[in-house]
Amino acid sequence: MNLTGKTALVTGSTSGIGLGIAHRLAAAGANVVVNGFGDIDAVVGELAAHGTRIGHHGADMSRPDQIAEMIAYVEREFGALDILVNNAGIQHVAALEEFPVERWDAIIAINLSSVFHTTRLALPGMRKRGWGRIVNIASTHGLVASAGKSAYVAAKHGVIGLTKTIALETATTGITCNAICPGWVLTPLVQQQIDARIKAGASPEQARHDLLAEKQPSLEFVTPEQLGELAIFLCGDAAAQVRGAAWNMDGGWTAQ
Ligand code: NAD
Repeated sequence: MNLTGKTALVTGSTSGIGLGIAHRLAAAGANVVVNGFGDIDAVVGELAAHGTRIGHHGADMSRPDQIAEMIAYVEREFGALDILVNNAGIQHVAALEEFPVERWDAIIAINLSSVFHTTRLALPGMRKRGWGRIVNIASTHGLVASAGKSAYVAAKHGVIGLTKTIALETATTGITCNAICPGWVLTPLVQQQIDARIKAGASPEQARHDLLAEKQPSLEFVTPEQLGELAIFLCGDAAAQVRGAAWNMDGGWTAQ
């Protein structure tokens, strides 16, 4: 895979899955713009080792005005936005009656509405150049539900619906839009759920095992590196007619 000359924006790429995908894109020769919270300078330094140009923008993905500034920054500074990976996401676990309204609003804004905002602004440039790749990081929770995750499940189902709609609206162009549905990946987002089990009395090994055993038949975590390989496939010519798909990489979770 050679993405030399292409520019990719990966939202939420300062850790976890987004960082894994950013590494894979840079290794394939793409310039990469990093987004997210935390030590963004350290992430830029890490990615620069691949030898491509790395930019960064700290847009809060719950803020449409900041998203617009970020897309404008990428197009101005890099000349184009060719590959858009919508990855930023947060999680909250609570029963529906106790679910804090502000957490619902934040999850829908960051996990779902941001995909609408980035895509509508990225599409005109992609259409002009006749080529583009949009990869949306959904989840197994975009295909099946879990009790306690109403906002996350609703947002991820929405991401898959939006992915299909974007794919239809670009079907006769060189732009493709697909979703990836990871099962459990051991990132800070999932560590929060393991920590909650440890707090409730489980040992760290037991907490990790129980989390996997409940959902993921392989009993192994999916890795950001494996997801990077799937993302890079979707960015390539071989995947030119993969449109509006939701690809599982979930250790068998949704096969049950
Ligand atoms: P993570 O917590 O490691 O990374 C989340 C990233 O999003 C970070 O870079 C963070 O700074 C950024 N972020 C959070 N809120 C933001 C905001 N308002 N604006 C900009 N950036 C923001 O999480 P992860 O596990 O790598 O998750 C990445 C994506 O993968 C999410 O969409 C998540 O729903 C999805 N996912 C994760 C798993 C898993 O098991 N970890 C499984 C399925 C899907």
